[in-house]
Amino acid sequence: MPSSVLEYPWLQPIWAQLQQRYEQQRLPHALLLGGAQGVGERQLAQQLLQGFLCREAGLQACGQCRSCQLLAAGSHPDFLALQPEGAQQSIRIDSVRQISEFSANTAQQGHGKAILLESAERLNVQAANALLKNLEEPPANTLFVLTCTHPQQLMATIRSRCQLVKLPKPSTEQAITWLTEQGVKQAALLWFMTQGSPLQALQWHEQDWQQYWPKWQQDLLATLEAEQLPQQVAERWQGWPLPLTPILHWWAGLLHQCTRQQLGGQGEASHYDEVLLQRLHRLPSERLFAFYRQLLELAAQLGSVANFNPAMAIEALLIDWVRLVKSQR
Ligand SMILES: [Zn+2]
Repeated sequence: MPSSVLEYPWLQPIWAQLQQRYEQQRLPHALLLGGAQGVGERQLAQQLLQGFLCREAGLQACGQCRSCQLLAAGSHPDFLALQPEGAQQSIRIDSVRQISEFSANTAQQGHGKAILLESAERLNVQAANALLKNLEEPPANTLFVLTCTHPQQLMATIRSRCQLVKLPKPSTEQAITWLTEQGVKQAALLWFMTQGSPLQALQWHEQDWQQYWPKWQQDLLATLEAEQLPQQVAERWQGWPLPLTPILHWWAGLLHQCTRQQLGGQGEASHYDEVLLQRLHRLPSERLFAFYRQLLELAAQLGSVANFNPAMAIEALLIDWVRLVKSQR
C-alpha cells in the first residue's frame, strides 16, 4: 500500500492546494477531510500532520529530522491520534478528554502540535460536545485533522468549526489503471466490489480474497440445487476470516453482469461461472435489479448498524435468492 499521497493521482491536486495554503499561512486550525471511504483519507491526514510537525520548511515532510523519526517510531510527544474503538466502534468522551490534557502541555519538539481524529462520524454525543469545546477555543499552534466518510452525520457545530476538504474518488478509468499498476489482477471486478474504494480493492487483492470466489459460486449453486441449506451456507461464510461485505458486493456483481448480458453487453463474464449466469438468464431484469439493491443495502448495513446479526441476514438473503431463481420456472 503506497504511503505517500503523491502515489494516489486523484489526491495530488488536493495535496498541491494544501501545500500552497500552508506556505501562504492560510491553513486553518481544523480541517475535516470528507469523502468516500478508502480513497486515501488516512494517508492524506497522516502526511499532512507529518509535514506540519516536520522541522523542515514546507508541508512535504523530510522524513529525516528528529520529528519525522519520532513520528515514524510512533513516539512523537506532540502528536495525538484518536480512532473508534470497542465493539461499537465509537469514539467516547474518555478519548476526547485526552485532547484537553494534550493541549495543556507545551510542544516538546517546538514545532506545534498535531491531532488526528479518524472516522469523526463515530463520535458519540458527549464526545462530540467535548471536542466542540476544543475546537471553539483552539490551543495555539495546534492542527486538528478529522476524517469522516459522512460529514452530514457530524454535528453541525463541529462541521462549522472545521474547514471541509472534499476528497474526490478516482474515475473508474483512473482507478483501474492505478490498481493494475499496483499488480492487481481483475481490477475492474475488485473496483466494482468495493463500490469505488481503490485502497479497499488493493487490500482485498493483497489478502488474496479472489481465492474465495469459486467457493461462493459453489455455495450459491448448492443452495439452488438444495444440496446445502441457506443456514449452513450463512454459517460457513461467517466463519471465514474475511468480512461479509465483499461477498455481497461480489454477489451483486453477478446480478449486474447478468443484466448487462441481457442487454447485449459483454462485460467481465470470465469472473462469474457460466452455469450460475445461465440460471439467472431468463429472470426479468427488474427482479434482478431489486435483488441487487437488496444485496447492496445489506452490505451498507453490515458496516454501519450496531447489534446486527449478519448470519441471520445472510440466511434470509439466501432464502430469497433460491425463491428468486426458482420463480422463473
Ligand atoms: Zn522532517
